[in-house]
Amino acid sequence: MNSKWGTGKWKNTVEQWESQRRHMVKYQLRKRGIKDERVLAAMSKVPRHQFVDLSWRDLAYSDRSLPIGYNQTISQPLIVAYMTQAAEISPEDKVLEIGTGCGYQTAILGEIAQCVYSVEIIPQLAEQARRTLSQLGYKNIKFKTGDGYEGWAENAPYDAIIVTAAPERIPQPLIDQLAINGKMVIPVGKWSQDLVVLSKTESGIVEEKTLPVRFVPMRRKAPEG
Ligand code: SAH
Repeated sequence: MNSKWGTGKWKNTVEQWESQRRHMVKYQLRKRGIKDERVLAAMSKVPRHQFVDLSWRDLAYSDRSLPIGYNQTISQPLIVAYMTQAAEISPEDKVLEIGTGCGYQTAILGEIAQCVYSVEIIPQLAEQARRTLSQLGYKNIKFKTGDGYEGWAENAPYDAIIVTAAPERIPQPLIDQLAINGKMVIPVGKWSQDLVVLSKTESGIVEEKTLPVRFVPMRRKAPEG
């Protein structure tokens, strides 16, 4: 990347941010096998720098995860793209996301799907994501603060479910809330995690382990204070 640590070079013009995004899409995503044009278009459009704190902005398009406060992180661009591609989302789909975080993955889903339901357990992050996404004009995203282990039963079934915090086992409520022919993409494991793609079909559940990954653990309660 052409940005340097701690230079405070976050006052780029719109064109400069766009050029960083083009670079990210070309070298971090296309060259590493992301092929879904809807995913690539969404990642070319969503202003990732607006989802991170000013002090991290100059690294917004670099090939890494970044802190978003409360000991949580925004995932590396490649992982966001990989998970979205693996979920095989179409424009008419209803998608559930567990772990809103800063809302960047949520925005990518909002670009592609018809509607997105997103659950976050830390109220302050949920509130901040809600603000960022409403400033950016997204109208097809609904938010809930609470334990995403339980999913969001009222709006089920979902055509796709994306989980960005790792449980030790796949939560049964999420499997129940996935539509037939739907896909769930979820990191699973305690110390070492695998990104699992679960497909639900008429004849049963198929789980495929894909990449080794490192996500924050799924917690069952918001942290104190
Ligand atoms: N997709 C997010 C990733 C955030 S990290 C982003 O791009 O910013 C994972 C998020 O999952 C954190 O915000 C964490 O607070 C949240 N989380 C952890 N356990 C959860 C649970 N049980 N229900 C909902 N969210 C949870």
